[in-house]
Amino acid sequence: MQIRHLSGNVYPKALDVEKYDFSSADQRKFYGGRKVLSGLAGLVLDHSWVALSVAFVAGAIVGSFLNVCIYRLPTELSIFWPPSRCGSCGQSIRWYDNIPLISYWVLRGRCRHCGTRFAMRYFWIELLTALVFSVGFWWVVQRDGHGFVTQGGASLFTREEVQALDGLAAEQRLRALQEKITLRLMGVWLYDMVLVSLLVVATFTDIDTMTIPLRWTVSGTVLGCLAGAWVAWPWPMAAELPNLSPWERQLVQYGGIVNTGTIMPVPLGAQMWPIWFPLPDWLPPGSWWTGLANAIAGAVFGTLLMRLIRGVFSWAFRREALGLGDADLMMLIGAFLGWQGVLVTLTAAVFLALGYGLFLLITARGRELPFGPFLAGGALLTLWGAAWLMRPAQAMFFDLPLLLLLAGAFTILSVFLGMAIRLITLILWAR
Ligand SMILES: [Zn+2]
Repeated sequence: MQIRHLSGNVYPKALDVEKYDFSSADQRKFYGGRKVLSGLAGLVLDHSWVALSVAFVAGAIVGSFLNVCIYRLPTELSIFWPPSRCGSCGQSIRWYDNIPLISYWVLRGRCRHCGTRFAMRYFWIELLTALVFSVGFWWVVQRDGHGFVTQGGASLFTREEVQALDGLAAEQRLRALQEKITLRLMGVWLYDMVLVSLLVVATFTDIDTMTIPLRWTVSGTVLGCLAGAWVAWPWPMAAELPNLSPWERQLVQYGGIVNTGTIMPVPLGAQMWPIWFPLPDWLPPGSWWTGLANAIAGAVFGTLLMRLIRGVFSWAFRREALGLGDADLMMLIGAFLGWQGVLVTLTAAVFLALGYGLFLLITARGRELPFGPFLAGGALLTLWGAAWLMRPAQAMFFDLPLLLLLAGAFTILSVFLGMAIRLITLILWAR
């Protein structure tokens, strides 16, 4: 059964079929015995608005918790204890006054006891998180925004999973595959939402205090490593890559054409890129230690790159450029997006920052922002633009000589740039 050829019609329309009958053995093979998951996937497929609403509410609840983190992290308070209190009168806030999105309007933005105004921003962050969760659900799960189904380079299913469907009619087989894909995309969505939540807190603490708390970025990096081991590349694709000859693998690396005119890009995963392609034998695709290696490589590369840039520019400008918090944030981002994601994120962040700077110049209003929010924005663009970015970029990311050449050019360029800036500031300073 050629799953890849189903790609066009697996999404987005859900098939309306009679409940299919798996033999219990096949059911176990296909769902790992978790029947409740099949029901959940069915709900998402058949009642997309219900699913979106649940995602929205979940986002609002998470957003409410993120508010607590943004408020308490810089103060070294525990984020779990004590429960929320009014910052003015110290009265603890009852659960019915702490309902995300709603309570703010019921209380008209004031404390029930002393009437002190709460900042409107609490409401906005809850709304923002709710929107990102629900739009993210629509984009990742219901539209396959990462392009696993429509642009995937490898099969989404293992041979055993496909064999489990042998006894079913064609329509029922498709429905079962839809459910399985839906479940996996929900896993990807969870992975994405963990990163987004970490970025929201980093962004607003950076705006508030010009620092990003170390305990947040370190916890986030550890979380990224654990999550990476859980969804090791190429998951949700099947770990078994087609049997390719070395020559064919080289073609794949360049997004070349293999077998009957099918374009074979490096498969995308929840962890977008593998640490290297093709992976060495001791890093089998889909194993938890490969996922961990991807995450650690991303984290180490992220923090080292930012520290290098910080070093060069601090030396050139003779004052501190970029905070260490930015290096820590890039470590967190690298743990989720891999070392290639670090490069794409940095590029996107620089353009976002330049755009914002231009906006400040033209409108002459607003205020300067730290670099953290732009890094977060760049990471989001990378996360959800990867399906398109990967194709043109993969030839560069997995070609060692080219990579070394670019790294050398980058180093020389930054040193020269640093020296030029230093020279200019010295001349200006001497006057
Ligand atoms: Zn109060």
